[in-house]
Amino acid sequence: MRDDLKCNDITGPLLAWYDAHARVLPWRIAPQDRARGIIPDPYRVWLSEIMLQQTTVAAVKAYFERFTALWPTVADLAAAPDDAVMAEWAGLGYYARARNLLKCARVIVAEHGGAFPNSHATLLTLPGIGPYTASAVSAIAFDAPETVLDGNVERVMSRLFLVEIPLPTSKPELMALATRLTPTARAGDYAQAVMDLGATVCTPKSPACDICPLVHVCRAHRSGVAAQLPKKVPKKPKPVRLGHVYVTRTAAKEWVLEKRPEKGLLGGMLGWPTSEWNEAPSATPPYDAPWHHVGEVRHTFTHFHLILSVHVAPCVTAPEGTVLVPQAAFRPSDLPTLMRKAFDLAQATFDNREVGSAPT
Ligand code: SF4
Repeated sequence: MRDDLKCNDITGPLLAWYDAHARVLPWRIAPQDRARGIIPDPYRVWLSEIMLQQTTVAAVKAYFERFTALWPTVADLAAAPDDAVMAEWAGLGYYARARNLLKCARVIVAEHGGAFPNSHATLLTLPGIGPYTASAVSAIAFDAPETVLDGNVERVMSRLFLVEIPLPTSKPELMALATRLTPTARAGDYAQAVMDLGATVCTPKSPACDICPLVHVCRAHRSGVAAQLPKKVPKKPKPVRLGHVYVTRTAAKEWVLEKRPEKGLLGGMLGWPTSEWNEAPSATPPYDAPWHHVGEVRHTFTHFHLILSVHVAPCVTAPEGTVLVPQAAFRPSDLPTLMRKAFDLAQATFDNREVGSAPT
């Protein structure tokens, strides 16, 4: 049954739909422009693909526009100070991506003359580029017939071919099916067309089959089970970890932060000092100060939920080993989201209190 669905059944109607309905995205070359010979900039394609890992298009747009305004080329990015790039990435999450972004930009400049390699195999040797990103850059930037399988494409393939094996077990089969449909002509547009179809028409809860260009060949639609696919193996509930976070500033109104270790969660980012995060964290503060508890903030990481108790001291003497950021230079937006949540909770203490006054 699955073998009778061929590339030609899909490509023509899907590309015609894409020509009329492609999403306008800041990193994208519209299909009409591409047809006129305008070629995507591999730097912008790569940057967008790194940002889009685990992150929505809506969240990425503003970051992408800021990054490309600050660093219009890969050479500009390679020459940027680490701290400036990490601060611009703050709030986007998964900070290993930002560290690898810089490493990759510097390798491109140092070893590839500032030009992205167009070979899938060479792309795979670059920091932070795995099989998915290598395929996406190859297809979108270089029009290579590589198969790009993200969550949207998995959903479309599951439904087109009525794959009832749950994800993630079905991934190899979905990859094989998607590969079979990948055309050699307009491969970049095709890759983006399937993603757009999944994002705008073949959506998770209520696929709009009545306006879908592939409704005539879709097995799940024919069987009336589109909204039930793809099936998924139930996820285990995430464990909860606890911790303490300490927000303060000096009498000179310098915020007392620390740079987190390069390896580990929020690696290389600025943040408030914290305890370790586990089931029973130590409640001993990192240095003496008149700490008082102002509440809790919650944040979810990939593998656990975190509840941090927020402690505030209105005025401390600058402790050793910390990073002091003067009030005038302090931008809460340079902090990762978890640390910004702690600041938002703590800042009323500083707004309402004369610096140096005694805690309540
Ligand atoms: Fe998805 Fe419906 Fe189109 Fe099938 S017909 S690909 S289920 S939107």
